[in-house]
Amino acid sequence: MDSKPSIWVEFTTLAVECKAVNIGQGFPDTPMPKFVSDLLTEVSEHPERTDWHQYTRGFGHTRLVNVLANLYSRFLKNPVNPQTDVLVTVGAYLALYYSFLGWLDHGDEVIVMEPAYDSYVPQIKLAGGVPVPVVLSLAPNPISSADYKLDISAIESKITPKTKMLILNNPHNPTGKLFSREELLALAELVKKHDLIVIADEVYEWHIYPGHEMIRFASLPGMYERTITIGSAGKAFSATGWKLGWALGPAQLLAPLKTIHQNCVFTCSTPTQEALARAFEMDLAIIEEGRFSESHLLTGLASELLPKRDLLAKGLREAGLTPIIPEAGYFMIADFSDIDWPGKNQQRSETDDPLDFDFVRWLCRERKLATIPPSAFYSGENKAGNDHFVRLCFFKSDETLLSAIEILKQLK
Ligand code: PMP
Ligand code: GLN
Repeated sequence: MDSKPSIWVEFTTLAVECKAVNIGQGFPDTPMPKFVSDLLTEVSEHPERTDWHQYTRGFGHTRLVNVLANLYSRFLKNPVNPQTDVLVTVGAYLALYYSFLGWLDHGDEVIVMEPAYDSYVPQIKLAGGVPVPVVLSLAPNPISSADYKLDISAIESKITPKTKMLILNNPHNPTGKLFSREELLALAELVKKHDLIVIADEVYEWHIYPGHEMIRFASLPGMYERTITIGSAGKAFSATGWKLGWALGPAQLLAPLKTIHQNCVFTCSTPTQEALARAFEMDLAIIEEGRFSESHLLTGLASELLPKRDLLAKGLREAGLTPIIPEAGYFMIADFSDIDWPGKNQQRSETDDPLDFDFVRWLCRERKLATIPPSAFYSGENKAGNDHFVRLCFFKSDETLLSAIEILKQLK
C-alpha cells in the first residue's frame, strides 16, 4: 500500500503551516447547530447517569439504533430492525473499512467509480481486495455535476467471476454528482445480474439542492437485501469531529462487520450517541408532522448551503476558473487551465506529481489559499487527464469564502 501521506494529512498540515484561508478539507468552519450541542451539554451535566457515561451497547446505543432504524425504515421503504440491522461505528470511515474487511476474501474484486473518495482504494487493498476502477466520464464543457456520466456498459465490461462488490458514493465526493433514478436502476439491474454486494456511501444524503431528489440505493426494489448503507453524524449535523457513523443493512450482511467491531472497538462513545439520538428524534418528529421534507430536516442544510455554493461559483468565474456546479454535497470542482501560474507551461516528467498537486501546493504556499487536488481521487493512468481541476469546500463562513474569492481574483 502507498505509504505517502494522504491528501488530508499533507494538505491540512500545509494549510496550517501557511496560515492559509482553508477551503480544502471538508468541514464547516461555521457553528454546528446549537440545538445539537445543547443536547450534548445536557448529557454532560448528568455525571450520575451511568447509562450516558459508561460503556453502552456494543453495536450501538439503544436509543440511537432505535431512532436510526425508524428514520431509515422511512427512507429505505423497508422495515429496519434496530437490533440487527444497524451498527454504530467511529465515523463512516470505519463502517467502510469494516465492510471491506468483513466481506472481501483475498483477490476479490471491487468496482470503484472514479473519481473515488480517496480512502476506498487503500482500504480495499488493506482488506486483501483488488480495486477495479471505472471512470465517470466528463462531458465536454461541463457546467453541472450531472455532466459526470455513469457508463453502465463500461462497468459491466470490468465484471469478472472475482467481482464481489461495487462501491457507490451518492451524493458523490468530490464532484457533487447526484445519481439519477435511471442510473441507479441500471446499477440495480447489474448488481442483481452479477450477484454483487453494494456499499452505498451516502454520507452527503442531507445536502441536496432544490430540484434534485436523493434516491437511497437500498430503497430500490430488491436492493435492501444486498446493500450496506453508510451514514455519518458528522455530515448530518455538521459536526465532523463527532466521528460517529453507521452501517445499515440486513442482519446477514452486517454480521461480519459486527465480528470485527466487537473485537476491535467494541463500543463507541456513549455521551455523543445519546445526544445524537435525541437530535435525530427531533428530526423524526418534524418529519412525522410533515413540517419538513426528508432532505431538509431540522438543520435546513441545503438552504444554508445554496447561497454559499452560488457565491463561490460566481467568485470562481470572475477569477477565470470554470466551476462545475454540484447538485448535492458541499464540494465544487473547478478547472484552473486558464490561470497563469509559474507551473503552467513548465516541462513535466513522468515522475512528477500530477499538475493539480503542484498548483494546489503553489496556491497554498504563495497565495495562502488551501484547496484539494482531485487527481488524488483517481488511480494510475486515470490521473493524467484529470489533473487540471481543484476541489473547493463551500461549507465555510461567508467571511472565509469572500477572503478565498479575493485571493482567487488576484490570480487573473
Ligand atoms: N465518505 C465520504 C464520501 C466522505 O467524504 C467522508 C469524509 N467525511 C467519509 C466517508 C468519512 O466520514 P466520517 O467523517 O463520518 O468518518
Ligand atoms: N471527507 C472530508 C473531505 O472530503 C475529509 C475527511 C478527512 O479529512 N479525512 O474533505
